[in-house]
Amino acid sequence: MKTLKSFFLFVLFAGLIGGAYYYFRDTTAPQITLNPPAGSVQKNTTLTLTLEDTTSGLSSVEVKILQQGKELTVLSKEYPLQTLQVVEELPLENLLLEDGPLTVEVTTTDRSIYHFGQGNTASTSATLLRDSRPPIITVQSVAHNLNQGGAGLIVYTVSEDVTRSGIQIGDYFFPGYQQPSGTYVCLFAFPYNVSGDETPRLIAVDQAENIGMGGFYYHLNRRNFRADKIGISDSFLNSKMPQFQHLFPDAATPVEVFLKVNRVLRPRNRARLVEIGHDTSDHFVWSKSFLRQPNAANRAMFGDKRAYIYNGNNIDQQTHLGIDLASIARAEVPASNSGRVVFADFMGIYGQCIIIDHGLGLQTLYAHLSKMNVAVGDLIERGQIIAKTGATGLAGGDHLHFGVTISGIPVNPVEWWDHNWVTNNITSKLDLAKQ
Ligand SMILES: [Zn+2]
Repeated sequence: MKTLKSFFLFVLFAGLIGGAYYYFRDTTAPQITLNPPAGSVQKNTTLTLTLEDTTSGLSSVEVKILQQGKELTVLSKEYPLQTLQVVEELPLENLLLEDGPLTVEVTTTDRSIYHFGQGNTASTSATLLRDSRPPIITVQSVAHNLNQGGAGLIVYTVSEDVTRSGIQIGDYFFPGYQQPSGTYVCLFAFPYNVSGDETPRLIAVDQAENIGMGGFYYHLNRRNFRADKIGISDSFLNSKMPQFQHLFPDAATPVEVFLKVNRVLRPRNRARLVEIGHDTSDHFVWSKSFLRQPNAANRAMFGDKRAYIYNGNNIDQQTHLGIDLASIARAEVPASNSGRVVFADFMGIYGQCIIIDHGLGLQTLYAHLSKMNVAVGDLIERGQIIAKTGATGLAGGDHLHFGVTISGIPVNPVEWWDHNWVTNNITSKLDLAKQ
């Protein structure tokens, strides 16, 4: 009799434990993740809703969108047993919403018996801004005379806040920089290697990723760049290639190293110039014209199409994207204009090399130096002696390779040495951005 009583007590106790276990097994509400969680959306954005309840599983969900007193139920659903996670797509496209703020409310319940069988309920709400209109671009500057391989400057306004704007030409993008007046200024290149048939376009992208596009009047002078032949001698290869051998251990001969330098290292160095080109001020940090190294002869011009001849064979072809200036060995190198040093180190084909930033993506490059007097971060005055010429990197003899880049893309330096060109095409347009 006593044993039977103990047995019933045991069953009752076990039942209570088991019941309590099931009752308290899942006391946490499902997790809700809405993407995007905030910010701007377009009229055809699809929201993504992720629901998760890994203990008892999801039971149901309801999603409402509220705008200007209107309430739309966009999702109402029961889930089958063992639904631990779901991803729901919520397209906004056909919902007859207006531009402006809207609220998304999500409520979901799990299959727990907690709360006297009601389960755990989670709710969240997010406020999003619907924006269906692309920014409108208004061009303020006129008379855009461009040379292939040269630079241009455009002044414009946009109708709303944008995440980025600037000139797109071919595969190249040149960012515009907002000025204190609110107006934007974009310094851009018509790159030497972009076909004259390409049309530059102004673009502006808002927070909702709507893209506004604008054209502008311009005149392009097409250029035929010079063809040049460079003889590659064994003595040049023997003196210059050992410094690059460690980069290309598989190259068996000096000629193979040379071809690797041209075809692998050169593009890598160009890509580095583009990276450095982002390190710029949002305004020009100079006012006078650009200086040319004095008493030096032009040896190679911008855009020269160089054929490399070795033992009578044309072994490679590259474009020369600066101007070579030669005078005496170890000649003093003046800074072409005021600015900030953004690079002063060894860089592949350029050897010891200094890059000075002049603002709005405009930078000057001084290569093959034997001695550098400045360091990254130094503020430089126009005409200040920054280095001595040399033959470091891929240089056959002592000279200065002088380059001008815009957002890292090389342009013809000759334009920047021409005071009238700078006034007519650059600085006079800048005044429009002050208004
Ligand atoms: Zn050069």
